[in-house]
Order: sequence, then structure tokens, then C-alpha cells
Amino acid sequence: MDGVRVGNRLIGADAPVTVGWENIPRVQGGPVKQFVFTWFQPTVLFALIAFWYYAPNSIAKASTAIGIAVGFKVLLLALEWVNPRYESWRLTWKELATDLFYVGLGFTVLRLVDGFIGDDVMIKAIQGYFDWDKFSWFTGLPLLVQAFVISFIFDFGQYWMHRGMHNWYPLWLTHSVHHYITQLNINKGAVGNPVELFLIGLGIGGFFDFLPRAALLAGAIGLSVSTYQHINVRFNTPRWWRFVFNTTEHHSLHHSQDYEATRSNYAGTYIFIDRIFGTCVDGEAELLGMEGGRRMSIREQMTYPFTEAWKSIRKRFARPVAVPVPRAAPPA
Ligand SMILES: [Zn+2]
Ligand SMILES: [Zn+2]
Repeated sequence: MDGVRVGNRLIGADAPVTVGWENIPRVQGGPVKQFVFTWFQPTVLFALIAFWYYAPNSIAKASTAIGIAVGFKVLLLALEWVNPRYESWRLTWKELATDLFYVGLGFTVLRLVDGFIGDDVMIKAIQGYFDWDKFSWFTGLPLLVQAFVISFIFDFGQYWMHRGMHNWYPLWLTHSVHHYITQLNINKGAVGNPVELFLIGLGIGGFFDFLPRAALLAGAIGLSVSTYQHINVRFNTPRWWRFVFNTTEHHSLHHSQDYEATRSNYAGTYIFIDRIFGTCVDGEAELLGMEGGRRMSIREQMTYPFTEAWKSIRKRFARPVAVPVPRAAPPA
């Protein structure tokens, strides 16, 4: 396979990928469908920002945010049904069963933790721990600026964490399972990621209800952008959006079977961070996964990081075995 040169890297030499926005298919269908799938993403983003900007204090709470997040995911599930990006990514019973296992796991762990630590005790402890007056220079800034700063700092950290996972073997072991998914759909963000489920659970318990409105706004921006990382819907995403924000296209390349392509698009929300550090590749991929798209069983997903770590430790400390060294060809 030839691959395409992006900067000084060769993308798509091991597996087929599409590079460049001009090569990405557009939404098929009549004017109404075109309109909906062109404006859906910006409309939801601006509607959510407006909601959190104007909502009265009585409803501007983390529990409302969780409700919105769940509703948003159900809406996206319907869109996946109407306008899938790839038929090959359609949800099957087997995939659904695996996904539900993770949802169940998350809630079980959550209920255990909830039983040990009461939410109200923790809320009081956190509120007492911070001296909120020290942040008055920050809370005096316009609300939208605060929200952007919070979400940017969070995503900047996530960028380097994620890049670290792809470059340092012990961290890679924890992240590798997520890269064995062979299709993207709305449930896949949770696969291999019980932490996210855990946080959602804490939110339902009212754990985060002390959060200031700027943080809720930041969360809404993150939700209405980064959710598209794992989703099977074809959009005509506006040019400015895909320049600034991460998209399904970017993240599908990150999950592709092509090794070089996976080493790109690390940000969760702001793809311009990848542009700044030279790791952004604009394009998409249909064939996803590791080892040519080998599907992992749930049991293997649970044990893989540990068995792999054990294998490499054994390899490193194994007694050297005498291996015949092939003789180098004499210089011509
Ligand atoms: Zn990754
Ligand atoms: Zn992913």
C-alpha cells in the first residue's frame, strides 16, 4: 500500500485510510436531510451554551447536566439508525451485549463506592477544602471565557496523557484495550473506560452539585464536541468546526488499523492542540482495530493489560538462550 504523505509522515501504508476533507463522502439524500445533518452539531452546541448561560440557579446543577447527557446520547442513537456513516459499523447483538456489560460494570462499582462514602460527606469536605475567595480573579472573568479556559486546560492535560499512553508501554497497556474496538458507535466511549461511567454515577448522586456554572458550561462544550469521537453518523461538519474541534473523522483515523494513523489526533475536544504540536491528520478510516481488526472477548478485555505485562516482564528477565547469529554478507 502506498500511503499518503502528511508532513514528514506516511499515513495509510499498512491499512486503507482516507486523507483530506475533499475525499470524504457527503451526506446522501434530500434537502431536509442535508440541512439537518449539516446544522445539527453547531445547533446543539450553541443551544447548550445558551441553556447553561441563562438557566436559573434552581436547575443549573450537575444532576441536570447528567440528564441532558443521557438524553443527548439517546438522540444520537436515533441518528445512528437514520444516517449511519458506515453500514459495517451498525450495532449488532454481540456488540450491544459487550457494550451493556460495561454499563453494568460501571453501575455496580458505583453502587459499592456510594455505599462506602456518602455523597454529602464528600461534598462538605471538598467545599471546605477550597478557599473559593482565592479564585475571585478568575470568577470575575466573563463566564464564557472561564468555561473555555476550564475545558481547554482539561483537554490540554488529556492530550498529553493520551499521547503518553501511545508512547510509554506501561501506560499503553491500560489504553490498548480501547484500541481493539472494531467499530465506532455511541456506546464505545465507555468500552475499556469504566472511569467515565464511574464519574457519571457520581454525578447522578449529586456529588458535583457544588460545581460553579462555568464548570457546567465547560462540561456542556466537552459533551457537545467530544461525544462525536465515538459515533456512527455521517455529518457535513462545517469547515470551521473541523478546524477547531475533534470529529468522528479524526478519531476514526486514530482507531484505524494503520499504525502511523493511530499516532495522531490525541485531543478529546480541541483538535487545534494536535495542529499546534504537529500530530493532526485530517481524514477518516472505516477499518478499525488492532491486529487487523481482531475482536476481543470480554474476558480478554479484562485480563489483557495484566497478561501482556506479565509476558513482557518474563521476556525481559528470561535467561538468554543461545541463538545462532546470521553471518553478515561480506562487503561488496
Ligand atoms: Zn488512543
Ligand atoms: Zn476512542
